[in-house]
Amino acid sequence: MYTKLALYIDGEWLAAASGGTQPVINPADESVLAELPLAGATQLDCALAAAQRGFKVWKRTSAHERYTALRRVASLVRERHERLAQVMTLDQGKPLSEALMEAKAAADHIEWYAEEGRRAYGRVIAPRQASVRASVLREPVGPVAAFTPWNFPINQAVRKIAGALAAGCSIVIKAPEETPGACVELVRCFADADLPKGVLNLVFGEPQKVSQHLIPSPIIRKVSFTGSVPVGKHLGAMAAQHMKRTTMELGGHAPFIVFADADLDSAVAAAVALKHRNAGQVCAAPSRFYLHEDIHDRFVDAFVKRSSTLTVGPGTDMASQMGPLTKRPRVDAMQSFVDDAQQRGARVLTGGARLERKGYFFAPTTLVDVPDDARVALEEPFGPIAPMFRFAAFDEVVERANSLPFGLSAFVFTRSLKTSIDIAAELESGMISINHFGLALPETPFGGVKDSGHGSEGGTEGLEAYLNTKFVSELGV
Ligand code: NAD
Repeated sequence: MYTKLALYIDGEWLAAASGGTQPVINPADESVLAELPLAGATQLDCALAAAQRGFKVWKRTSAHERYTALRRVASLVRERHERLAQVMTLDQGKPLSEALMEAKAAADHIEWYAEEGRRAYGRVIAPRQASVRASVLREPVGPVAAFTPWNFPINQAVRKIAGALAAGCSIVIKAPEETPGACVELVRCFADADLPKGVLNLVFGEPQKVSQHLIPSPIIRKVSFTGSVPVGKHLGAMAAQHMKRTTMELGGHAPFIVFADADLDSAVAAAVALKHRNAGQVCAAPSRFYLHEDIHDRFVDAFVKRSSTLTVGPGTDMASQMGPLTKRPRVDAMQSFVDDAQQRGARVLTGGARLERKGYFFAPTTLVDVPDDARVALEEPFGPIAPMFRFAAFDEVVERANSLPFGLSAFVFTRSLKTSIDIAAELESGMISINHFGLALPETPFGGVKDSGHGSEGGTEGLEAYLNTKFVSELGV
């Protein structure tokens, strides 16, 4: 059922040379699925050299040919999406239904970037002298080093790979060691679509050693990272030291604000679905629930009723609505958030502990009377914990929502157009979804502000991230 793990460097599938291996764990039963080869320094150098050669070929390949190649990849992903999803559920843990959606969406992302790559237009500027032509050219930035996390193994990788390749860049991607299977399967689709050697290289390794090797290399011209704020700041500082462009898609702590005039049924349905998708391990997931005092109790009752009946179990079991957390340390992190909140006066209405069974399962958890200084109110929980807060006035909730260093996503439920317009203007957030969930489509920009990072993936902005601007002024003589 699982996949044969390997590195993919310069068009070859490779075992580890000097980097050793590490076990990949199934989070639903703690069994070992496979041994993952890790790249050592020599293999990383090979990947860099391959990306340099691949870039020379790929940047001269016409935009139309790149489009055709990426369309071939998208077809393969669509054909194989069930396989990709099964492998992802085994090492990541999410329910198969969610994995299938993520795998199918990968084909959409590739197609979107394939199309968008044909529209990397420049422009002509009106010259000050009649015989001068002043042009702005868009060029691929160069070989990219990308680092992707374990929560959406396909989605996070495909956005970086497809964006880079559509723009004409080559890429070395370090995919997550915890959840490598679906990334290997995804890269197999690119490999089987006959892309030139070296255009796409996949490595695994010790994260700090790999980033320290790749980012300072003069071959790498752009760094794209998705993951936590502290690691993003660390990699961003390294990239700045070597003057590399960066895209940083970091953590969030999304406010979910429900005003008294909201459609409560749809707010509760969205809250429960978004909070527990991928066991809450979603950077854009709602994680601070601000409820107007007039509807607080009704919302909480309905939320608890729905979330306490969710079926939690292995992702491979079709009845499961929520799977395990992906890594053991996340279970301890959940428990410490709950313990800290309780010590500060919060009450646990449902959940609050790991499940008594093998695997990294933590119960869907609702906390009320949570003080604003509880750790779960300040730090991203990245798990199935829903802390509820009461508010009385518009200005108050805006201030509390904006009070943290994060600024990735925010959710608002209201029937008032005025409230909707006013709050969209006031919230310090890269993405705002009002009365529904509207994020993360291929054609819409995904990204944060403040400590949640900079740059966007998706939308026209997603291609922009991999393009340089060159100005050419020509005097005809
Ligand atoms: P982490 O920051 O240690 O790891 C997140 C990812 O970054 C991993 O895939 C890891 O391989 C990679 N990474 C870590 N150090 C690196 C380095 N020096 N160089 C290159 N890559 C490196 O966090 P974690 O303990 O695995 O997860 C918990 C936290 O991570 C959560 O609280 C959440 O904030 C964050 N996270 C965010 C996202 C996201 O989509 N923004 C995804 C996963 C994790």
